[in-house]
Amino acid sequence: MASRIKIGISSCLLGQPVRWNGGHKLDRFIVETLGQYLEFVPVCPEVEAGFPVPRETLRLVGDPERPRLVTSRTNVDHTERMMRWADGRVRELEREDLCGFIFKSDSPSSGLLRVKVYTAKGMPEKKGVGIFARTFTRHFPLVPVEEEGRLNDPGLREAFIEQIFTLQRWREAIAGGRHRRTLVDFHSRHKFLVLSHSPAHARAMGKLVADAAGRPIAAAFAEYERLLLEALRLRSTVAKHVNVLEHIMGYFKRQLSGDEKQELLEVIESYRREYVPLIVPATLLNHYVRKYDEPYLKQQVYLNPHPLALKLRNHA
Ligand code: SF4
Repeated sequence: MASRIKIGISSCLLGQPVRWNGGHKLDRFIVETLGQYLEFVPVCPEVEAGFPVPRETLRLVGDPERPRLVTSRTNVDHTERMMRWADGRVRELEREDLCGFIFKSDSPSSGLLRVKVYTAKGMPEKKGVGIFARTFTRHFPLVPVEEEGRLNDPGLREAFIEQIFTLQRWREAIAGGRHRRTLVDFHSRHKFLVLSHSPAHARAMGKLVADAAGRPIAAAFAEYERLLLEALRLRSTVAKHVNVLEHIMGYFKRQLSGDEKQELLEVIESYRREYVPLIVPATLLNHYVRKYDEPYLKQQVYLNPHPLALKLRNHA
């Protein structure tokens, strides 16, 4: 990876003392572990929109689809102020070319999912999206987004990290120009990765690449990017991974001895039964890729999608 991956993040997760009470919500995993690979672009909607620290807390009220942002005790409506600021901030963020955004959960400004929205009777319903998070996801519908708490789930964590690393590789690939060759190369390297999320997308993307010569190249790139990010949002399952592992195994039909084939099949079966994590069959396949110097597989991102140090494939 040539450069760090640029990620937007709610400022309080970095330890900045911007919360209503002057505190922060430092997330050590994000800062210390992911931070080795990421460049953070902090955003605190409330402070950047001009609210002081400390301040009265805010909350969402009314229709969960179009909630108002009001102060919790004095009931002052700050919706227009926050929306005006958010519209300007997302336009500024266009220049940052973000590969993702990590939002602080439960916040009426930054929360992405199930934020409390209070009814007229003062009852909270966990149905809302923070005002800035909603503006961001509408403005950048394809950019990967997640909340800090959900990154504690190994599956969700791997999915998000795979998305941001892939988007970074895509951005680096197209930085060299939008040529058909770029599309062919990128797709060839990512074919199994996409397949592990969505066989239907892998087929559609393969067809798009094959037909790219007959259509305007900018449109082909835009469509490919949409399909790529859409595919990676679909959760990969054990069954989809087994399909990919068996596909890869097929490349060694002639080289592997009967016993080696049997061992590989047993390891894949142990993974299918969830006795061992994905890293086990992936490591064995990587061993054969190296041993037999298989050129097509050597370039497959699926076999090395993110740094091993992140231990993302180590959960069964
Ligand atoms: S949750 Fe959002 S608005 Fe609240 S302190 Fe953190 S960054 Fe600022």
